[in-house]
Amino acid sequence: MRRIRPSRRVYTAIRLGAAISTMCLSGGAFAETVVLDHFTLIDGTGRAPVADQALVMTDGRITWVGPSGRRPAAAKSATSEDLRGKYLMPGIIDSHVHLGLVNGVDQNFTKYYDRANIEAQLRLYAAYGVTSVYTLGTDGDTIHDVIADQRRIGRVEMARAYTAGRGVVFKGSYGGVPGLDQSVATPAEATAMVERETAKGDDFVKLWMDDEFGTIAERMPYPVSTAVIAAAHKADKKAAAHIFYYDNAAELTREGVDVFMHQVRDRVADAPLIAAMKARGTWQLASTLSREASFTYTLLPFVDDPFFSRGVAPSTVATLKSDERQQRLAASPTFPKYPKVLTNAMASFAAEAKAGVKYGMGTDSGPTARFPGYFAHWEMELMVKAGVTPLQAITAATGTNASFLGSNEAGTVQKGKWADLLVLDRDPVADIRNTRAISSVYIAGRKVPTIWQTCVGRAADACGAAKP
Ligand SMILES: [Zn+2]
Repeated sequence: MRRIRPSRRVYTAIRLGAAISTMCLSGGAFAETVVLDHFTLIDGTGRAPVADQALVMTDGRITWVGPSGRRPAAAKSATSEDLRGKYLMPGIIDSHVHLGLVNGVDQNFTKYYDRANIEAQLRLYAAYGVTSVYTLGTDGDTIHDVIADQRRIGRVEMARAYTAGRGVVFKGSYGGVPGLDQSVATPAEATAMVERETAKGDDFVKLWMDDEFGTIAERMPYPVSTAVIAAAHKADKKAAAHIFYYDNAAELTREGVDVFMHQVRDRVADAPLIAAMKARGTWQLASTLSREASFTYTLLPFVDDPFFSRGVAPSTVATLKSDERQQRLAASPTFPKYPKVLTNAMASFAAEAKAGVKYGMGTDSGPTARFPGYFAHWEMELMVKAGVTPLQAITAATGTNASFLGSNEAGTVQKGKWADLLVLDRDPVADIRNTRAISSVYIAGRKVPTIWQTCVGRAADACGAAKP
């Protein structure tokens, strides 16, 4: 009787397959290796800058980082770049954005929210060195297609997105965007919505509790927020809250919310609230100081700054400068309220940071006239104005923001992480505005066009010479 066993050819194929996979794992014949050398490293963990460091990136991941003199001999295929005099930090993470809502300054979810618009904005974030964004509760289901593709590809050419999907709005109250079905009337509806939406793959859960300076009848009632938080935790997701009022921040902390995505702004966060946040482990992931600051101007003060204007179409700048717009903003009943809101937000942030509340960096950019990328640099500048050091602002915007989501494999310059990197011509620890001196941006070890090589809505050379 013949015994049935695999043919010789099958054995050979298995052995060959094993050999190929071993080669891939060990960074063999087909690995893409890039070496960066002699830069000053700001690694995103909070560690002070270290001079004359080197980095090896293999297939988009950091495989070695350390003193230049101890760099391992590079693989034969390696390309190498001398970054003497430059500063290397992790790509920035903006923990509070909204994608795909606008065309210029015209905001309309129904008209503009699609994959092309989302991805164009993710490319613009990347040009500004913002290599990951957390999108905060105004997404249609398209975001899940974008993110699924990003995570399958890994080596993307735009900012990586993480989403709170459709955030939970209390029916008739503040929050969300017109055209997106995301409101609930009861705790039971809130539970059902969170179960339904997290099943689509949301990275975390968002709720809104606000009343637009008292102009809306009711904020989200506490039994609804309690239900949202419980359902999020049951799905093993963190619950993030839009807040404005001190009292709501205090109650949501008691309810076990994980993170605030704006500052307390009706007054200044005080010792009892800060003690409660620390005791419960509540994070302040976004302080959105640039959001509040933007509302204190009828004309944003940087519209002619090339770092800004390269990223927007000339028609957008013209709209921002129009008399009609400036008069309309000046006449708005909320306009006079914002200087105090900004002062309160900055003081709340400073008090929390000083007391040891965990804080990240987030802008709330994406809605009309709050611009992707530029606002992240402005936010870090405002954080420093409020009282933290440039190094602390950078750590918030990189390592701390990354650590909020366990799934974020970037945010620090460490072995095993994605090589999502920002290379600067000047020292950002000496002056936080030097984060704008962008020399290059890497996502997964490959350069993407920087804002200094970008000229939105015009011929490539219409913004002046591109910096290399
Ligand atoms: Zn927001």
